[in-house]
Amino acid sequence: MLEWEQLLASVYSDVAPYIGEGKVANYIPALAKVDPEKFGMAIVTLDGSVHQIGDANESFSIQSVSKVFTLTLALGRVGESLWKRVGREPSGTPFNSIVQLESEHGIPRNPFINAGAIVVADTLLSGHQPKETLGEILSFVRYLADDDGILIDAEVARSEQHTGFRNAALANYMHAFGNIHNPVEKTLGVYYHQCALSMNCVQLAKAGLFLANNGRLANEGHHAISAERARRINALMLTCGHYDASGDFAFRVGLPGKSGVGGGILCIAPRKAAIAVWSPGLNANGNSAAGTRALEILAKRTGWSIFG
Ligand code: GLN
Repeated sequence: MLEWEQLLASVYSDVAPYIGEGKVANYIPALAKVDPEKFGMAIVTLDGSVHQIGDANESFSIQSVSKVFTLTLALGRVGESLWKRVGREPSGTPFNSIVQLESEHGIPRNPFINAGAIVVADTLLSGHQPKETLGEILSFVRYLADDDGILIDAEVARSEQHTGFRNAALANYMHAFGNIHNPVEKTLGVYYHQCALSMNCVQLAKAGLFLANNGRLANEGHHAISAERARRINALMLTCGHYDASGDFAFRVGLPGKSGVGGGILCIAPRKAAIAVWSPGLNANGNSAAGTRALEILAKRTGWSIFG
């Protein structure tokens, strides 16, 4: 037990000089108010034990980390047919880029760039009202984390709704290619609200543990998804989870990870642990700067890289 606390303390002390580096996302006004000096980290091991440091109990906006949970749900809903509407290749472009959509006929490169996640939200919405879909997403995340305290921050969602012109452009453009099946404003409403899920590092690491545990909840718990599907989601997180910095994240950390502009990262050490880190200052690619450093240090100390 003490070992984990010592490990976290050593990561924290090495990353401390860098906490506050980068810029807090300000294109979503509600996120601009967050204190850039925050830092929290939580590790949940396969048996469900939780280890944490810093602001690991403080809720933040998980933003694009939510794309992991909606992808998991959508694969459960529509299965492999999802891949007719979304690709599985790294984009090499920023998270909100539109450029590849023209040559690729409205099919986004992968489910983790905004365009891809909007299509995923659209598949979840089909046959439902937005409220039902959001209820399903929220229940799923609460079930995974075993925590009914998880909420969606309506103010963050509203704030993005008022300023989300790029996402509206992506959704409208894909609609023109027939790849959005519901009214654009309803699909975007679901997408903004899933991004506005408010969670702390402990909740996020617990919610992601099934990806480290062959698709099962902690210990010998239920299969949330099959082991094969967990492996594939991990593969997508590794190759696409950090947008045009996915290669750099694989190089530095060597683990599947998914970032969000709220400064959170969910990182999976298969058969070992799920790790969540939060520090709001972002690097040029829109990923947590100190969070990435912390994961790099952690992976080095533990030898958890999937590359040996
Ligand atoms: N809601 C944000 C957006 O659509 C999510 C982006 C992110 O976290 N990278 O711009």
